[in-house]
Amino acid sequence: MPGRGYLGVMPDCLFCKIVAGEIPSTKVYEDEHSYAFRDLNPQAPTHVLIVTRDHFSDVADLGGDAAASARLLAGIRGLARQEGLTDFRTVLNTGAGVGQSVFHVHAHVLAGRPMGWPPG
Ligand code: AMP
Repeated sequence: MPGRGYLGVMPDCLFCKIVAGEIPSTKVYEDEHSYAFRDLNPQAPTHVLIVTRDHFSDVADLGGDAAASARLLAGIRGLARQEGLTDFRTVLNTGAGVGQSVFHVHAHVLAGRPMGWPPG
């Protein structure tokens, strides 16, 4: 995947366009480094995607930048606090083989229903 560790906007990246406001989204939360919006195909009563403003392709890419990784976790914390979530599941799919379909790192934040383990 080109653009590993790329800081800024990646042309033709769906989530870069959402962050830039070029594609509409239902914003739930934002801070300096993260942007969160409702998933178009929700899998739980609360299903929010939180993305880095800078382009990283996946969590393996993001993990090469410790500060950016911490900023995404801080964004998840901010989102959860804002929405009053105490019990929630955070999913970061990495690779098409486990269901990643958008190659801009994003955490699914799911809440509002019982969830089984192990995940499917
Ligand atoms: P993943 O399969 O882990 O890469 O997650 C991608 C998620 O993005 C899926 O849950 C989709 O439903 C969601 N999605 C795709 N396009 C949009 C969009 N334009 N706005 C909101 N969510 C989207």
